Amino acid sequence: MKKIKIVANWKCNPGTLKEAKVLFNLLTSELKKNFLILKDVETIVCPPFLYLPFFVFQVKNLKHYNLKFGAQNCFWEEKGPFTGEVSPLMLKNLGCQYVILGHSERRQILKETELMIGKKIKTALKAKLKPILCIGESLEEKKKKKTFQVLRRQLKIVFPEISKVIIAYEPVWAIGTAMPCPPGEAQKILFFLKKFSEKSKILYGGSVNSQNCKEYIKVGFDGLLVGSASLIPKEFVQILKNATNEI
Ligand code: PEP
Repeated sequence: MKKIKIVANWKCNPGTLKEAKVLFNLLTSELKKNFLILKDVETIVCPPFLYLPFFVFQVKNLKHYNLKFGAQNCFWEEKGPFTGEVSPLMLKNLGCQYVILGHSERRQILKETELMIGKKIKTALKAKLKPILCIGESLEEKKKKKTFQVLRRQLKIVFPEISKVIIAYEPVWAIGTAMPCPPGEAQKILFFLKKFSEKSKILYGGSVNSQNCKEYIKVGFDGLLVGSASLIPKEFVQILKNATNEI
């Protein structure tokens, strides 16, 4: 049976460690209760950097939850004079397995370029982290029918190592908007992306909730990237359960 990956991107939330611990404990207790149902789902929690050590330390005693950790970003050097940066090597040594790279919020707000993202992917792979590369067109690009052109350009940076990268198709207009990409439309993109690499896992992200999640698995995605809904443990676990039913 195929295994799916569901990524929880907490973004810059919550505001305190105390709240983060409450959220994490609620999530793990739900995962524990539903362990048998969720055995084919790998849950990848990506909290802010600061909270990672607390969770990673705790999860060492909770091996069988099928729970993994990821960061929401990393730098392209291993160490050195780079004030404010966190390297893939540090994340790997801490116990992370994944890192989200190229999220549209970083591309737009922090002006990350494809060159920068490409370098980050290379260093992450070198550190044996699994990069989750976010790609997706803006509303303007969609309206101009440039979706495929944009995706092709965004993917180019990972050649020839594309098969080692998890790709998250996240149309920018669907992120945090309650306007998910219709599953049929997303499936056309999935087929397009599969042409570049049969081996790569391809996730869908953009306003996923417990109602619509199963549709994306049904049309063939290998998992989901969840933002806002991952901050509500019961809703998030419902997403895991509903998505599993479609494997
Ligand atoms: C995201 O942050 O990548 C995301 C998909 O957010 P949301 O689920 O809130 O649309």
